[in-house]
Amino acid sequence: MEALLGKNIEDLKAVCVKYGLKPFAANQMVDWLYRKRVRDIDGMTNLPKAAREAMMRDYEVGRTAYSDVISSSDGTRKYLFPFGPGVEAVMIPDKDRSTLCVSSQMGCRMGCRFCMTGRGGWHGNLDPAGILSQFMEVDEATVLTNAVFMGMGEPLDNWDSVRRVIDILTAPWGFAWSPKRITLSTIGVTSDVRTGESPLRRFMEECSCHLAVSLHNPFPEERAELMPMEKAFPLEKTLSVLKEYDFSGQRRVSFEYIMFAGINDDKRHADALARMLRGMECRVNLIRFHRIPDSPLMPSPLPVIEQFKTRLNNAGVLTTLRASRGEDILAACGMLSGKGKKI
Ligand code: SF4
Repeated sequence: MEALLGKNIEDLKAVCVKYGLKPFAANQMVDWLYRKRVRDIDGMTNLPKAAREAMMRDYEVGRTAYSDVISSSDGTRKYLFPFGPGVEAVMIPDKDRSTLCVSSQMGCRMGCRFCMTGRGGWHGNLDPAGILSQFMEVDEATVLTNAVFMGMGEPLDNWDSVRRVIDILTAPWGFAWSPKRITLSTIGVTSDVRTGESPLRRFMEECSCHLAVSLHNPFPEERAELMPMEKAFPLEKTLSVLKEYDFSGQRRVSFEYIMFAGINDDKRHADALARMLRGMECRVNLIRFHRIPDSPLMPSPLPVIEQFKTRLNNAGVLTTLRASRGEDILAACGMLSGKGKKI
């Protein structure tokens, strides 16, 4: 069965024609799918019964419900979805915001050493229906205000599907969200061996969502120790692409920097980072590392993080320490394993 979820108006017009419906029925279908949020085709009651019945032989709405949920003492909730060996999405409440940290792949093939997802390997891409199911099935679905593509997977390694979801989230006939409510986090995928295109450049050109780049170390050899994909996608190249774009308006770029004790947290790193980002309209988000099992990596002590932050701010690079959420339920940054309650 093919999913209707994830299709845009043009795709749905083609579906309509196949079942003898006028193309404008696609407008009714997007309304049912993305606004009224029906779970089955039979619920699209303003379409003729015969067309619905014929369609149901080939198609389904394609929403997948979560299989488990666990709540943190800080209100963060982690949902488990039954895709591949397990995919997690995290809902983070914060004052008047409800942000969904969404997954784009079943696992990840980037292999970052500090990340539980990377350790579990890659088990395939999520299709648009799988990504949209996370938005539509969590208990807070109707009150979500923001989304961050920071869950399991590298979103620019599955850009076609992620782009389709962003299109639906921001289309007037879809969720009608402003792109400013969406942030995509990437290690900086600057080339695709299959197509020769740069997914990072495509992201910059094809949408206007905010960008967060996982930086973690300004020195290439040291960064490669933490993030083996530095060799394939050098940070230098990522920065040279980003420097072609203007971030002085509404669109923002931030650099994520997880602080590891004795690895990337001394003056040398802070000064190199400041030199590297000088002249860019950006912000650095420092993140406390959450220990993962069987890893020698340790979190930097808080005073060291504060000194690092002050040094960067004094060098003119706007730097903040990001609050950590959901650590007790293994929902914080780098802790998603797709195993739900178990680690
Ligand atoms: Fe993949 Fe992100 Fe984990 Fe790196 S940090 S392995 S890119 S999910």
